[in-house]
Amino acid sequence: MVDRRGRRLILLAHCILNQNAVVQPLARARAALEGVLQACLEGGVGIVQLPCPEMAARGPERAPDDRRGYDTPAYRALCRELVAPLVAQVRAYERAGYTIVGLIGIGNSPSCGLDTTNEGGARPGRGVFMEELLDQLPELQGRYLEVPRRYGEDPEATTAFDEEVRRFCAARGSR
Ligand code: SF4
Repeated sequence: MVDRRGRRLILLAHCILNQNAVVQPLARARAALEGVLQACLEGGVGIVQLPCPEMAARGPERAPDDRRGYDTPAYRALCRELVAPLVAQVRAYERAGYTIVGLIGIGNSPSCGLDTTNEGGARPGRGVFMEELLDQLPELQGRYLEVPRRYGEDPEATTAFDEEVRRFCAARGSR
């Protein structure tokens, strides 16, 4: 039997695939960020959807909050709880010889930002959930992208990021 598995995977922030999880009024699409998704599919990577920590903590009708509101011991404990099965999944793939291409987070998010977050406005920094995730998967440091703030509003920024995702997927472990 032919094995068609590409053995390459990417981790995506939950709301890239499901904009219903995004706090009002920040959703950029009815369903998914289709350009990002399409670029991943074209790159031949399997998709592992991360959980949405804010949804788990406060539900779909939560009020907007910034990093100060989320950086609490209880929220960090929840993030670690959510991260644990994911880390186990990643380690199982790695042991079997699969490549984790990388991770895509959400710029300016108090939870899922990687290089930018929101604390009294946009600022450099990392979201709480991504801090906990990268603490457990340190090999992903430097192997990530984040969806820019203007994605979905500015056609140029949107197309440029989709292209960046294509290059990112092609750069690692493709056969
Ligand atoms: S917490 Fe993360 S996954 Fe959930 S809506 Fe915010 S950025 Fe998206």
